[in-house]
Amino acid sequence: MAGFGLPGLASVGGRATLVWSDSYADVERISSGRFSSDPQEALRAWDRFEDWARSVEPETSGLPHPHLLGPPVPHPSQVFAVGLNYRDHAAEAGYDTSGLPQVFTKFPSCLASPFSTVAVTSPRLDWEVELVVVIGRTGRNIDEAGAWSSIAGLMIGQDLSARDVQLAGAAPQWSLGKSFKGFGPIGPWITMASGVANRDDLMIECELSGELMQRDRTSNMIWSVAELVARISSVCELAAGDLIFTGTPSGVGNRRQPPVFISPGDRLTSRIAGLGELINDFVSPVLGAGG
Ligand code: ZN
Repeated sequence: MAGFGLPGLASVGGRATLVWSDSYADVERISSGRFSSDPQEALRAWDRFEDWARSVEPETSGLPHPHLLGPPVPHPSQVFAVGLNYRDHAAEAGYDTSGLPQVFTKFPSCLASPFSTVAVTSPRLDWEVELVVVIGRTGRNIDEAGAWSSIAGLMIGQDLSARDVQLAGAAPQWSLGKSFKGFGPIGPWITMASGVANRDDLMIECELSGELMQRDRTSNMIWSVAELVARISSVCELAAGDLIFTGTPSGVGNRRQPPVFISPGDRLTSRIAGLGELINDFVSPVLGAGG
């Protein structure tokens, strides 16, 4: 057998798992224990892991059941997020984009599975589909030219946002308003950056209950992935496994006329070309949605 291509790295039932287009393999088992079942460990040894993964053959046909998929990076030490990084979105939000990128955090306890069910805990719950960068090599003061070699892979993220909490008070509370339980679905798996063609120009979109809400290309970012890595690492040391949510295109709910927010019963589908899709269903909080 040949031509499997580069696998993605998923968390299946909490175990690191390589995923191809129609097959998969448990990392600990197929590596005879060279790599553990912990998805974070692969990121800590990314160069060795990626070299090894290129040579592996799948062990199981088909794909893992979606409900077994967990967040591919369950416990990053830092989760950065960038606001107002697409021109049309900055314009709809009424902000000037000159100067430096707007960086905040989604607290890691909000991260959730790619097919998770989310409780509607806010009357103004909004969507933001984003490209998420997964750091693969620890570093500080990474320059733009070296940025992509510090990146393990890419995935899709939803920066779900409670606009009532985000915009309460004298100045916006971005980090808290975007960190409720389940507000950070990521996945469906890490696609290795080295295998992504046109990695700075990917189609990105999301649909709410079948209606297209956002569609753009990542080439329309104001600050490119390399520029964001350089900027953030000039302040914070980036560790393997850290995440960067790189901002959302126009079409969010609170800037529509009239505004549209997520309700129980809605289904949010988020896609980036070549990276797969997330599907998140929303329920009333009294139904007790989990992660
Ligand atoms: Zn965002």
